[in-house]
Amino acid sequence: MTKYHVVIVGGGPAGSTCAYTLAKQGVSVLVVDFKRAIGLPVQCAEFVPVQLYSQFKEFFTDGSIAQRVENMLHFTPWGEEVSMWSEGFVLNREVFDLNIAKLAQAKGAEYMLRTRFLGFEDEKVWLENIEDRRKFCVEADMLVGADGPRSKVAKLTGKATEYFLTTAQVTMPLRKGLSDLLIYFRDYIPGGYGWVFPKGGVANVGIGVDPILGMNPMESLRRFIDEVCAEGMVEGRIIKRTGGWIPADGLLPLVRGKVALIGDAGGFCHPITGGGIANAVLSGSMLARAIVLSSLEEFEEEAWDTFGESLSRAANKRKKYMRSWNNLREIIPKTWIAFEEYWRII
Ligand SMILES: Cc1cc2nc3c(=O)[nH]c(=O)nc-3n(C[C@H](O)[C@H](O)[C@H](O)COP(=O)(O)OP(=O)(O)OC[C@H]3O[C@@H](n4cnc5c(N)ncnc54)[C@H](O)[C@@H]3O)c2cc1C
Repeated sequence: MTKYHVVIVGGGPAGSTCAYTLAKQGVSVLVVDFKRAIGLPVQCAEFVPVQLYSQFKEFFTDGSIAQRVENMLHFTPWGEEVSMWSEGFVLNREVFDLNIAKLAQAKGAEYMLRTRFLGFEDEKVWLENIEDRRKFCVEADMLVGADGPRSKVAKLTGKATEYFLTTAQVTMPLRKGLSDLLIYFRDYIPGGYGWVFPKGGVANVGIGVDPILGMNPMESLRRFIDEVCAEGMVEGRIIKRTGGWIPADGLLPLVRGKVALIGDAGGFCHPITGGGIANAVLSGSMLARAIVLSSLEEFEEEAWDTFGESLSRAANKRKKYMRSWNNLREIIPKTWIAFEEYWRII
């Protein structure tokens, strides 16, 4: 039976960054993913902050950057427009994810696609080849869950995410170029917001809603598309559709025995903004460093020190203020990062 020091489930930014950092240190690592191709289909609005670029420049090559942006402009239902500096990039996410995987492979990490994770017991990782349904196992000293918001690996650490937001997104042609990210708060996008993120000649136009507030996400998206079309921002033609889940519980317990979680699987995604790419990369690299030092407890501690407070604040605010959606003038400043009240009121 083939043996690896680490098996990573999930070849997204978290899993591949972890694999790359481990492989660079000579650690034997296998990444399994049930996708046919790393990075596809894209389920993302694709914005990352400039700080990520400064730390991981090598991930941003070969056309992974679609466009640079400067600010986040917010449109409130009461007519106020709020601008926040938010320098960064809208990515070609499939290129970005593939870049990290290629770097990991170049350092010796192995990738097995069309392979589903089934279970982990007695240092055996059970897998299934999706093409022929063949079940098999490999040996591993430890297992990393980088398997996204609906992580199966997280069930092994005692507490998986239970609370999710739902999203729906289309890509549409822009009528004229945009240099900022646009955020809309609306009564018909309950518990979330609408976004227009420019990518050169097109834009990702999407919504995220809290399912407990009862709005059908497709209906919410339809109304949002109508609004941005009526504003003359985009042409009424849909090039691509996507969507997905945002974990909204905040950080989970991250380590149990020989299993550790990173990225969305560990709840590193921001429970209000839904931004998770940067934290996926950072948590992947943080865990890899801890594995090399044989110190998983330090990973848990460092992750909570670095991300715990900000993610818990957002998760708590979501629970405290966003479970009804009927006084937006009060709710939004308390629950969105561009407002001073967000930072002042717990
Ligand atoms: C519509 C939408 C818009 C978003 N927009 C942004 C944005 O603009 N900026 C931002 O920072 N974040 C955004 N996010 C969040 C961001 O996409 C995630 O935080 C990020 O992808 C997390 O990376 P990850 O590596 O943890 O997980 P993922 O990218 O989800 O990768 C997980 C991988 O695990 C694989 N996998 C899952 N289960 C198994 C299994 N059992 N066996 C084998 N493989 C498995 C999957 O195929 C996948 O490749 C958005 C999310 C959505 C849904």
